[in-house]
Amino acid sequence: MKKFIFHLLVFGTLTFAQKKYVMVIHGGAGTITKANLSPEKEKEYREKLTEALQKGYAEIKNGKSSLDAVSAAIMVMEDSPLFNAGKGAVFTNEGRNELDASIMNGKDQKAGAVAGVTTIKNPILAARAVMDKSEHVMMAGPGAEKFAKEQKLEIVDPKYFWTEKAWNSLQKVKAMETSKKTSLNNKEQYPDYFIVDHKFGTVGAVALDKNGNIAAGTSTGGMTNKKYGRIGDSPIIGAGTYANEQVGISGTGWGEFFIRTVASKTAADRMKYLHKPVTEATQESIDEIGKLGGNGGLIALDKDGNVAMPFNTEGMYRGTVTDKGEVEVYIYK
Ligand code: ASP
Repeated sequence: MKKFIFHLLVFGTLTFAQKKYVMVIHGGAGTITKANLSPEKEKEYREKLTEALQKGYAEIKNGKSSLDAVSAAIMVMEDSPLFNAGKGAVFTNEGRNELDASIMNGKDQKAGAVAGVTTIKNPILAARAVMDKSEHVMMAGPGAEKFAKEQKLEIVDPKYFWTEKAWNSLQKVKAMETSKKTSLNNKEQYPDYFIVDHKFGTVGAVALDKNGNIAAGTSTGGMTNKKYGRIGDSPIIGAGTYANEQVGISGTGWGEFFIRTVASKTAADRMKYLHKPVTEATQESIDEIGKLGGNGGLIALDKDGNVAMPFNTEGMYRGTVTDKGEVEVYIYK
């Protein structure tokens, strides 16, 4: 018995503590509750998140880089109409789809981003191309599209991004806009109609490869009814995406607050300079956003394979995979 207890204490704890994650993803945060998600839709989300994790894991397992794993996982979600990225991107006030994405490599802190693009099928690949094939970090609008074309990335007619779900969301928000002209969110002077569609379906991924290198990426259509060339946090390095040698982070939520708090970089700095664990460092970024009146979530993975997925919304589509290929997917609190 003594021997058994000894064994349990030593090896039992070790086995538990050694669970090492190699990838974490998100598919957006928001008012996602069991009550407003049908069992069929829930199944679709779970299956897509699982597929994204499996694609990312396959890259890691085959010895590919964390950048490849991040791109592979994000592409699965960009190609699905379920998420507010790529195919399922939300509409601007003018009825257009303007997409943003970014990617960052931890080891050398190289980064790439595109903003406000309308014809690039997979913005995450364009962000990667900006990082790998240009001397710049961020390209926007027609220039970014010209560059993507030169890089032989897939270009689509803007109509490709039309989905009924996103179109209906815009109509709903616009109807609110007309009927609630005077109603302002007192905290931030944002009209309620700007945030009525409380579903941030942005996608993101963070991966850790066999060489111990971390990468993070994020892709989005932004926020429904966004105006005047608005760019959110997702393509902004340090706000929606960040990676260094210690940790990789991707966010989803009300972008303006992620920019104002430099959410991802601040969380990484809490780890680097205050020596906080990844869970505490990222939770504090979400708390800071909450205090200012914003909402959303972060996913993070550190160099030892520890994950964190804090959020202050009802739910966040999210999932993890371990170095042994065990996939876990979560939606609600
Ligand atoms: N963070 C994104 C933005 O503000 C929205 C989202 O997460 O869905 O553009």
